[in-house]
Amino acid sequence: MLTGLQIAVIGGDARQLEIIRKLTELDAKLSLIGFEQLDHAFTGAAKEKIDEVDFSHIDHIILPVAGTSLEGKVETIFSNEKVYLNQEILDQTPSHCTIYSGISNDYLTEITDKANRKLVKLFERDDVAIYNSIPTVEGTIMMAIQHTDFTIHGSEITVLGLGRTGMSTARTFQALGAKVKVGARQSAHIARITEMGMTPFHMDDIEKAVANTDICINTIPHLVLTASVISKLPVHTLIIDLASKPGGTDFRYAEKRGVKALLAPGLPGIVAPKTAGQILANVLTQLIGEELQTRKEQQS
Ligand code: NAP
Repeated sequence: MLTGLQIAVIGGDARQLEIIRKLTELDAKLSLIGFEQLDHAFTGAAKEKIDEVDFSHIDHIILPVAGTSLEGKVETIFSNEKVYLNQEILDQTPSHCTIYSGISNDYLTEITDKANRKLVKLFERDDVAIYNSIPTVEGTIMMAIQHTDFTIHGSEITVLGLGRTGMSTARTFQALGAKVKVGARQSAHIARITEMGMTPFHMDDIEKAVANTDICINTIPHLVLTASVISKLPVHTLIIDLASKPGGTDFRYAEKRGVKALLAPGLPGIVAPKTAGQILANVLTQLIGEELQTRKEQQS
């Protein structure tokens, strides 16, 4: 139970509702900032404006997956209010206050560093990234079906990267009957791709490897689908770029060549916000519970 903890949930989308639900079930007291248009009421959670909150009593701050913008703005789907997080707010919090976000940027890292508060980036955790790969792959399958006139079964699918998302993507498309090739740069990854019964290739050989691709799914957050690589793809190829913005595709050249290329950010929040929220809620409650336990042990 998280009885006695005060947590500020600042902004976010439907995923945050699962987090709020779980935290209130565990008896934490919540200040919900940027939720005034949310019809649903949660017992133990009060909708407040950011300047009404007494941050000196806040044990944890939960930000949306994207954290803040480079100007400190926090995305608020359930509000028209403009909400900004700045160092002055963090300075008011107790020294043990932890800030949770999916990812960070220079602004968020700088204000948490300057305020000397701990920032936890949930998406850097292997468990979150692996769980999150499940709705990501389901969203990728949805896009592949929507944007092609052929079946996945029997198609030539090229997956770039054998990280947490790439591995789930390659395995699922193979299970659907596709002929899957995977590009990686580490010899251990090449060995794993072979062990999984797929065709491996080294990223140095990408131009040769993509020649028969029907669907190319990129998970590498660097420019790997260059103009030169795209020029080797058949024109009917569909590129689904999952890598974080700006993706790993030369979209300008793809358009010029007539190859359909789609940047597909945030698929878990789009196709399965409830599951994506539960993934975050489970990890968050575990982390907050552990921190509470550690503080209690230090105090006794
Ligand atoms: P990850 O586990 O770190 O995997 C990234 C892969 O890219 C690794 O296999 C890595 O290989 C490879 N890589 C990185 N730089 C490379 C380079 N210069 N050349 C060749 N390979 C390179 O990350 P992840 O969790 O799978 O996530 C992958 C991307 O998808 C991230 O950008 C993430 O934000 C994004 N994502 C998007 C969605 C969505 O909804 N669109 C959902 C989840 C994740 P090495 O091991 O050799 O470095």
